[in-house]
Order: sequence, then structure tokens, then C-alpha cells
Amino acid sequence: MTIQHLPPKKITSFYPPQRTLMGPGPSEIAPRVLAAMSLPCIGYLDPVFVDMMDELKMLLRYAFQTDNALTFPASGPGSVGMEMCFVNMVDPGDKVIICRNGVFGGRMIENVLRCGGIPVIIEDTWGEPVDPQKLEDTLKQHPDTKVVAFVHAETSTGCMSDAKTLVEIAHRHGALTIVDAVTQLGGAPLFVDEWNIDAIYSGSQKCLSCTPGLSPVSFSQRIIDRIKSRQKPSQSWFMDLDLVLGYWGTTSRTYHHTAPINGLFALHESLVLLREEGLENAWARHTRHYLALKAGLEAMGLSYLVKEEYRLPQLNAVRVPDGVDEARVRKTLLTEFNLEIGAGLGPLAGKIWRFGLMGYSAKSENVMLCLSALGSVLMDMGYPIKVGIAEAAAHQAYAEQHAQAAKNIKQVS
Ligand SMILES: *Cc1c(COP(=O)(O)O)cnc(C)c1O
Repeated sequence: MTIQHLPPKKITSFYPPQRTLMGPGPSEIAPRVLAAMSLPCIGYLDPVFVDMMDELKMLLRYAFQTDNALTFPASGPGSVGMEMCFVNMVDPGDKVIICRNGVFGGRMIENVLRCGGIPVIIEDTWGEPVDPQKLEDTLKQHPDTKVVAFVHAETSTGCMSDAKTLVEIAHRHGALTIVDAVTQLGGAPLFVDEWNIDAIYSGSQKCLSCTPGLSPVSFSQRIIDRIKSRQKPSQSWFMDLDLVLGYWGTTSRTYHHTAPINGLFALHESLVLLREEGLENAWARHTRHYLALKAGLEAMGLSYLVKEEYRLPQLNAVRVPDGVDEARVRKTLLTEFNLEIGAGLGPLAGKIWRFGLMGYSAKSENVMLCLSALGSVLMDMGYPIKVGIAEAAAHQAYAEQHAQAAKNIKQVS
């Protein structure tokens, strides 16, 4: 036998360029998190590692605001967290209500179908929140519904739904809930226990600003009871919570699959950063930078897709002005300014840009770079804006917030 398939070109080490990431995720990774990831690997049953796993679970309980014992990072991207919820909670023939107001609700429908469940779909316009009245009405029409699933923070549209109310309605009709908090976690208020959420999943690469490929999940006792009383095992071996519990549970640490060790070092560090900053301060930081970005974008003459009260601070969906080649703008921002922003998806393709302010990317340097780069590119393309007014408006928004904060401190003391 001869060795074949030598690469037809000389391939050397890969060094990615340094980008400013202001898209829908991944977000930029803090230097401390990157450093943690490059530490030497250790075994997944090393007692030192097992201690760190316990800390990870504590830190995730803080991030999710829950006592749930079964709170851990699933090995895989947010999509694995999503699938883990569905394969463990939906059996063939189960009726599941999916509230769809963007891309990710659509993926939930796919999951239900692959589990052999019967999806009942509630549609809301992309850019609007899930309508609680529609959920109430649909549950009345389908009293045998087992599960209600919805996306808390729709990254495809920048819209937040009222998770607390939706969960409350589902429970009143005897259904369990699956909540997608991939973009919500760490970016805006989320209270898993106070809101009685049954199953929730998130992602490491959005507002936690960690390496992509991990999915923090949390399951209430109601879900554990349901899994324990299951007649047939889950159709997925890898995501079967009963098996995963053997490694991440409270009583045992037996091999299921090799944990993504260095990724978990990184997640631990990103959660330590969150703990140091404080959850409420992290939420406030996302809002602060959103307000500055908003002031700048609006000064430029751009408008938001979502009504102010439903807007995600961490994901700003903004209408592309008529006659502007939106793809060319994004390409120019990337090649000339090393700045990544997101495009619209599905029915919003070509109609919006998505500016992410997630985690470590939510900082004033990024807001100012984005406004100045976007302003220059639009002006260069002939759009009637003046460079400089957006930055000044953003700066004024920061100044007003500082003044307000100073006033609040005075009132307290
Ligand atoms: C990004 C995202 C996902 C998917 O996460 P991946 O890590 O890309 O698999 C799911 N839901 C929402 C709301 C998201 O923003």
C-alpha cells in the first residue's frame, strides 16, 4: 500500500485574524478565558477535575438562578442542548406546542417531528414576541398537550418573549416547558426557579463569551421524575439524561463520553468572570451599551425591527435602508474594519442587519467602532448621513447614563 492524499498544497499553522465580533454569536472571548483554555489537559475523572465540575455546576446554578441539581454543561453546541431537551421529554405520539416567531422555533418543530411527537404550531410574526393569548387558546383546544416550547430571546429577530407568563400558562394547563435561553443567559434577566421553568438550555458562545461548543442545561425535579419513570429509553444514546447523569449527577462519576476538558476550563473561567462582575451588573452592562448603540444608529437615521419594550439589548436587529446593498456593507465592514455583524435570516434576509452586543463584545470600544465604521461605509456608498453624528449621540447616551448612575448613588448615600 502506498500513502496517498498528501494535501496538494503546503499547509502551515492556522492563525485567524483578530476580528471584532458583533454578530449573533460567537462573541469575543475574554483573554482570561482564552488563557484557561490553553492550560494542559487532565483526565475527565481526575479528582481535581471532578472538583472543578462541582464548581461549574454551582456557577451555572447562579447564572440560571436555580437550585436544580441537574444543571450542567452538555457537550456540544446550543443545538445539542435543544435536542437533549426534546429527546428526553418527547415520546412518540406526544403532543407538543411550539411557539414560533423566528428561526429557532422552527428548529424545535424539527426536533418534535424526529422524536415522533405531534407538533402544534403557534405562529407569530418575526420581530414580535410570542402572544400569550394564542398559547392560552391553543392549550384550550389541545388539552392533551404534554410540552410547550418557545425561544426566550429570538436571536434571528432580536425579540424577547415573556417567559414567565408563557410558563405560567403552560403549567395551568398541565404541560411541561422547554425554554431556549441560548442568547438570554448572561445578557438579560432570567430566573429559572422563580419562573418555574422545567427544562432550559443555553450556549457558551453568546453572552457567556466562552468558546463555542458547550451548552449549559438545567432540568427540574419534575423532568428527572419523568425520565426515571420512562417505559422505553430515549431514542438518543448520547443525549440520554439517564446515562449522562452517571457522569454529571450528584452520586457518581462514571465514564459516559470524554468531556471537552479544555472547553470546560474555559467555561469555568467565563462563569468566574460573570460571578465577579455580578449577574445584575452584567445585565446592566448589556443594556448600557445597547442604549449607546441605539442612540448612534438612530442618529444615523436607521430604525429597529422590534418595538422598544420587546427588544433584546444583546441583539440589535436594524432595518437596512432602501437601496443599500446590505451584503456589500457587511463585507466591507469585515474586510476593511475587521468587524463582523450579522445578516437577516429567512423572511428577514436582505432586510435587516443584526448587531450583537454579547458578553465580552458588549463594550464601548465596539459600539464606537461599529458606529464609525458603519457610518463611513454608508456615506461612501452614497447614503445621506454625516459621519460623526452617530458617535456623538452614543457618547451623549453614555454620559447621560453616567450622570443618572451618579445621581442614584447620591440618593442612596
Ligand atoms: C445560537 C442559537 C442556537 C443554536 O446554538 P448553536 O451553538 O449554534 O448550536 C439556538 N437557539 C438560539 C436562540 C440561538 O441564538
